[in-house]
Amino acid sequence: MNTNEFVVMGNPISHSKSPFIHQQFSEQTVIQHRYGRLLIELDNFENAARDFFQRGGKGANVTLPFKQEAFKLADKLTARAKCAGAVNTLKLLETGEILGDNTDGIGLVSDIHRHFSLKANAKILILGAGGAARGVVQPLLGCGYQLSLSNRTESKAEAMIEDFKDIGLLRLHKADDTYNDYDLVINATSSGVSEEVPLLDEQCFKPSTCCYDMFYKVGNTAFINWVVSLGVNNTADGLGMLVGQAAHAFHLWHGVMPEVEPVINILRKEMAQ
Ligand code: NDP
Repeated sequence: MNTNEFVVMGNPISHSKSPFIHQQFSEQTVIQHRYGRLLIELDNFENAARDFFQRGGKGANVTLPFKQEAFKLADKLTARAKCAGAVNTLKLLETGEILGDNTDGIGLVSDIHRHFSLKANAKILILGAGGAARGVVQPLLGCGYQLSLSNRTESKAEAMIEDFKDIGLLRLHKADDTYNDYDLVINATSSGVSEEVPLLDEQCFKPSTCCYDMFYKVGNTAFINWVVSLGVNNTADGLGMLVGQAAHAFHLWHGVMPEVEPVINILRKEMAQ
């Protein structure tokens, strides 16, 4: 194996834009690395990941559905990975240990701040209680925002609120909740994959409400189409988050922070072709 080898691990993986993004970062920073895709069988994450590092791999991005398994695999964890309970970036340390990090949260926060001007104590509703939602709670609380959470399976939202109770207040949003004056609604569900939208009272959306969909695709996502139809003006999809989390992974591996904006622009053009 090439001695500077990196991969994105997942299942499925053929759709992943990570190799393209990291190629752009490599050209931009003139840091040479080989970055490929590694399809891992659903019941074989630990063996396949260990094998990759034993063969000389230096680092990996981890995507669906392995982020929690990557958390268990890591010998050491960054504070933000510990807090998220999920790992999206692995790095082989000089000691031979594997470090697990989670760059999804910082990728999201940077992108939200690129798109929206939120007040210091903005009220944010997160839809979803999966790995992506867990990864963004701590960085958002760290900004001073007030967070509410809603999930299709309410028990999972309740469990998540319990898990985070030591780092800050996370409120459960229920159907027909009168507390619905949100500055930002973040769709962290995977409903977009099947062109669906999460169930939510339309009262949550005012023209001034900002809406962010972590999902992205060519054209608008189903969630963005829906909120626009309700009169929302400020929307963004998760392409910038994707590039942002990749940039922070690149920084962890190489110590250099690439610029995200040009890569988002290139990717958006590529996707439109
Ligand atoms: P998980 O599988 O861990 O969680 C999925 C979540 O979505 C659960 O809360 C699930 O609810 C909910 N859900 C699924 N389908 C529906 C539906 N039809 N209606 C309402 N809720 C639904 O996935 P992740 O958390 O890892 O990913 C979530 C999304 O975030 C994906 O679309 C993914 O592509 C995106 N993402 C984007 C990133 C980026 O960089 N832009 C990075 C990471 C994720 P329930 O508990 O009831 O099953």
